[in-house]
Amino acid sequence: MLTILKNSDYLSIKEKLTSPKRIILTTHTNPDGDAIGSCLAMFFYLLKKKHTVNIIIPDPFPEFLSWLPGQENIFVFEQNKQKCRDLINTAEIIFSLDYNNLNRLNDIETHVIQSASLKILIDHHLFPAEQFDLKISVSETSSTSELIYNFIIASGDRHLIDKNIAECIYTGIITDTGSFSYSCNYVKTYQVVADLFGFHIDGEHIHRLVYDTYSESRLRLLGYSISEKLVILPEFNTAYIALDKAELERYDHHVGDTEGIVNFALSVNNINLAALFMERNGIVKVSFRSKGNFSVDTFAREHFNGGGHRNASGANCEISLEETVQKFLTLLPEYAELLKRVY
Ligand code: 5GP
Ligand code: MN
Repeated sequence: MLTILKNSDYLSIKEKLTSPKRIILTTHTNPDGDAIGSCLAMFFYLLKKKHTVNIIIPDPFPEFLSWLPGQENIFVFEQNKQKCRDLINTAEIIFSLDYNNLNRLNDIETHVIQSASLKILIDHHLFPAEQFDLKISVSETSSTSELIYNFIIASGDRHLIDKNIAECIYTGIITDTGSFSYSCNYVKTYQVVADLFGFHIDGEHIHRLVYDTYSESRLRLLGYSISEKLVILPEFNTAYIALDKAELERYDHHVGDTEGIVNFALSVNNINLAALFMERNGIVKVSFRSKGNFSVDTFAREHFNGGGHRNASGANCEISLEETVQKFLTLLPEYAELLKRVY
C-alpha cells in the first residue's frame, strides 16, 4: 500500500477531483526546488485531468529553477496582486504544497483564508496546522515532489506522467535531499527516482542546471561567507554565518544566491548545528541545519517561531541581525550537552 493512502484524506481528495475544477496551487515564500517542482508537476498533471489550474507563489523563485518546464505559468503575488486575488476568489480548490501553515504564504495568507475554496494540503513538514480541509501529510519521505508522484500513481495515472512532470519531480527530490545526502534513507525514494528515469530525464543535465549555474558574484559571496564570516564555536559544536544587507548588496545578491551556504558551515567535522542569518527586506531570515538526532525543527519552533524538518529548518525574525545572532548565542549553553552527544 502506498504511504500516501495511509492516515490521509487521499480518497476524499481523489473524489473531489473527479470533475473539472478551478484549482490554485500555492507554495511557500522563498520557494526552493521542491516547492516549485511539486507545484509544476501537479500543474501539468491536473491540466491533463482537465482542470483549470494556476500557480500562485508569494515571491520570486531563484534563477537556478528558471529552466523548469512550465515556470512561465507561475504568478508571483507581489508582482501581480489583482490577478492573483481574482484567481483566489474564484477558485474551488486551493492546494498548499510543501508547507504546513498558511502563514508561510505571507501576503497571500489572508486571501486564501477568506476564500470559500476547499483547502487541501500535500506536504512533508512536521506538525501540519489544523486549518486545511483535507490533507496528505507525510514526513517520512524525501520531498513533497515525491508525494506528488505517489499521488499520481495512487490515482492510477502513471500513463499521464511525461518528461516534464518527471523533470519537475526529480528536481524537487534532488534539491530537498541535497542530491541524495539527507532525508533520503527511504527505499521508496530510489524506486520513484528509478521510475522517473524511465521517462527519459537527463539527471546529469538537471544537476548542471541546478548546481552549476552560479553567477560569479554568487560564488564570491560563498567564498567571502566561508573565509571571512564563518564563526566556529567548538564548545557548542556549532558554526554560524551572519550576512548584513550591505554585504549582500556588495555581492549583488539575488534570490537563491545564499542557498547552500549554511551546508558548508555544517560540513565541518564535529559541527552538529549550523545557522545562517541574513538581513533582508527589514527582517532577518534564518536557516538552521543539523546532523543526526538534533532537531532544528524543534529548535526553530521553540525559540524563533519557525520550523521545518529535523535537520533543516528556518525562521524569520523581526528583531535586528545583531539581536537575532545574540539570541542564538544565548541559547547555545542549554543545548551544549545535546550538541556534544549527537548520533
Ligand atoms: P531554508 O533554510 O532552506 O529556507 O528552509 C529549510 C526548511 O525550513 C524548509 O523545509 C522550509 O520550508 C522551512 N522553513 C524555512 N523558513 C521557515 C519559516 O519561517 N517557518 C517555518 N515554519 N518553516 C520554515
Ligand atoms: Mn520540501
